[in-house]
Amino acid sequence: MDEAVLFETLKEYFGYEKFRPLQKKIISSVFEGKDNLVIMPTGGGKSICYQLPAILLPEITLVISPLIALMKDQVDGLNANGVPAAYLNSSQQESEKEAIFKQIDDKEIKLLYVAPESLQVVDRFLTDGKVSLIAIDEAHCISSWGHDFRPAYTQLGYLKNRFPSTPVLALTATADKATRNDICKQLNIPKAKKHIASFDRKNLSLEVKPGIKRFEQITDFLKSRKKESGIIYCLSRKTTEELAAKLKVKGFKAEAYHAGIEHDKRSNIQDDFINDEKKIICATIAFGMGIDKSNIRWVIHYNMPKNLEGYYQEIGRAGRDGLPSETLLFHSYSDVIQLQKFASNSKNEEVQLAKLDRMKQYSEALSCRRKILLGYFGEYIKEDCGNCDICKNPPEFFDGTVIAQKALSCIFRLKASEPISAVIDVLRGSQNELVRRNNYHELSTYGIGKDISWRHWQQYIIQLINLGYIEIAFDRNNHLQLTEQSKKVLFEKEKVYLADVKEEKETATREIEK
Ligand code: ADP
Ligand code: ZN
Repeated sequence: MDEAVLFETLKEYFGYEKFRPLQKKIISSVFEGKDNLVIMPTGGGKSICYQLPAILLPEITLVISPLIALMKDQVDGLNANGVPAAYLNSSQQESEKEAIFKQIDDKEIKLLYVAPESLQVVDRFLTDGKVSLIAIDEAHCISSWGHDFRPAYTQLGYLKNRFPSTPVLALTATADKATRNDICKQLNIPKAKKHIASFDRKNLSLEVKPGIKRFEQITDFLKSRKKESGIIYCLSRKTTEELAAKLKVKGFKAEAYHAGIEHDKRSNIQDDFINDEKKIICATIAFGMGIDKSNIRWVIHYNMPKNLEGYYQEIGRAGRDGLPSETLLFHSYSDVIQLQKFASNSKNEEVQLAKLDRMKQYSEALSCRRKILLGYFGEYIKEDCGNCDICKNPPEFFDGTVIAQKALSCIFRLKASEPISAVIDVLRGSQNELVRRNNYHELSTYGIGKDISWRHWQQYIIQLINLGYIEIAFDRNNHLQLTEQSKKVLFEKEKVYLADVKEEKETATREIEK
């Protein structure tokens, strides 16, 4: 396809002068009739990669998309720009569908959006030569390796057999290497050209803080940001509502959003947010997909996401206009335990747990977070980013061997039967019910860590967990136990280096027990 035509079309239908990185290459490859896999972050500009070719190609373009709500928005947008488009999904009346079939027959439509569940309908009247391009949006949904597996997507593999000469364009914002390969395999496009855009969003600052006194930390954060829009992601519907209510009491324009809220109300909340009527949305992950708001200035994770793909996608909703934007993740062990339980009950237990582990490692990182995050997506940056909390305030290490020995021998004396909070109580020689009931004051390790504060112990033990010297047994009381490695510290004089614990204003640290 002539380049001049591509630019003219971009200007005429989309109003843009230039292509974003990779867009032109992808579009050219589509015109060469190749299969392609596009991996581009949210907001990177994936849609144009199939919408522009669709305008110029002779026959119809099928767009497979999982989100019915999004489909309508996209189609409305295209029609408004003079691109004839329509959608088919299970929410439509028979008569509505008939009208669309007729339009297709009369070649009046350039793009047809279809939910995977409704594909059979299309099958009846479209043959190989009658389709110019098949675009598969959110392609990671086909892979059980991905974080958002949808059973309806598994049948999409048959498209390549059904339309062998039609190029397939698979698109996703979230794919690690294993998922990428799996997408191509599942879609029967083994030779697909892979286009991987940079995932580095330099304008997003990255910060992780301990999940203690979260509400105070949030109101502190919001005080200087009253004019800015942002999202607070929570794990449960209940938390979104409680948090929004508490924020309202403090005078913030906050609203809860989750899939349990009635449909009309939900779209009102979305509209209010987009129009800046409401500044703060406390939401479950149901919020955000398909929300086109470029000036979201911050994203907070009240709870830890279950994997880095989800985290990346959610923080990626901030700063789409390219201006500096803040992200803040609260890290708490009770969240980890909760997520571990969810993962253990899921179909893909092993994969989910491994992904959660990576999430945890990121939260507890002691080196540039962006390097870790991008590394997860297979992208390597040479320099530290300078825009994450670790880069701005790097930890200092000290010889923590004695601290480690004290913690490990205490766990040993407790016969690996107690969770982190009890271990710290014994180390610090607390006189509480638990100690009295179990006669823990008679242990030789009782009170050997008096000189170290509760919060410091907590941070040190977390580091020891990350270093592999301690394990959490995820049964009912999440007790701490020793590992093979801990023997080296206890009996072979192995040295342990710990990162200094940064001073925080907050002193309450018992949250972890919740
Ligand atoms: P994605 O599907 O990758 O999340 P979109 O296709 O929705 O991203 O594009 C994100 C935003 O970027 C949209 O507002 C879109 O109009 C805009 N955009 C896409 N391509 C360009 C371009 N070449 N120049 C300027 N803006 C663009
Ligand atoms: Zn960094």
